[in-house]
Amino acid sequence: MQQLTDPFGRSIEYVRLSVTDRCDLRCFYCMPKGFNDFEAPEHWLSFAEIERVIGAFARLGTRRVRITGGEPLVRKDLPALAARLHALPGIEDLSLSTNAVQLARHAGPLKAAGVQRLNVSLDTPDPQRFRDITGGKLAKVIDGLTAARDAGFSPIKINMVVMKGVNDSDVEAMVEFCIEHGFTLRFIETMPMGDTGREANAHYLPLDVVRERLERHYELVPGVMPGGGPARYLRVAGSELRIGFITPLSQHFCETCNRVRLSVDGTLYLCLGQDHKFELRPLLRSGITDAALDEAIRQAIALKPERHEFNDKPGQVVRFMSMTGG
Ligand code: SAM
Ligand code: SF4
Repeated sequence: MQQLTDPFGRSIEYVRLSVTDRCDLRCFYCMPKGFNDFEAPEHWLSFAEIERVIGAFARLGTRRVRITGGEPLVRKDLPALAARLHALPGIEDLSLSTNAVQLARHAGPLKAAGVQRLNVSLDTPDPQRFRDITGGKLAKVIDGLTAARDAGFSPIKINMVVMKGVNDSDVEAMVEFCIEHGFTLRFIETMPMGDTGREANAHYLPLDVVRERLERHYELVPGVMPGGGPARYLRVAGSELRIGFITPLSQHFCETCNRVRLSVDGTLYLCLGQDHKFELRPLLRSGITDAALDEAIRQAIALKPERHEFNDKPGQVVRFMSMTGG
């Protein structure tokens, strides 16, 4: 089997696929309020183009694909794309990151299409705070989560960006919420991506502070979670709840980074925290052969930088998270 390896010896086996840069929420740490400068539809990769690129990655050893955005559920007919990706030889793990606002409608079709795992962003269980952070309605997210559980998704991981003075007081309530509903909880540190991310970074809270605070209320024991991502897991003793800590700033995990990101316009981003990129759309639209596409992807992987520099150069990344595909 072929294997993509970057200049630092890391196997690249995971693609995060952004199917849109649009979103039906406006989380203040991600997308600027009133932002409207979205990618033109003629620049969006079509489903056939996405299928070709992911097919090429699969030939080169990629086994895992996560569909993300922007908000992936705003892309029309997403379950049809999911079914096409699921059918690609070699793709063994298809997952989705969503804000769940439209999940109530889509959970069943997505499950039927072959999406195996679901990550849902939820920063607070409090309706007013949810509105303050995202501009949206919490009730829709709760409906979406319920539908996902009813459709048979398991585990469902909840991602919470923890911000000092914004939602850090909700950490215990989120633990209780996830115990009650049988979800896995993952805390995430803010990242200084774009002006929005830097605004969030003013509320940066290292997650060891959160862990110490939780240890006053709960007994935390080592836990494991299959999936190979960057989260380190603990389990709340006496419950099934596993809690993951994703610490891109306080303990970066670049040395084991196994992923690249494909944005909606066909740009491969080699690192969330750097500008290294490779444009695939012009090649796809000028009739590139499969063999040349594979070679182009190898060239792109050779550009992958060693590490992000969020700590040393927090002003560096101008694109915000929803543009790259978080
Ligand atoms: N819309 C979907 C969602 O919210 O799950 C998928 C895309 S969103 C960009 C993916 C993840 O990026 C979310 O969990 C979100 O909380 C996170 N994110 C966005 N901006 C961030 C920032 N500045 N720092 C840390 N995480 C961020
Ligand atoms: Fe939308 Fe997700 Fe960004 Fe929130 S984090 S604005 S839901 S893309």
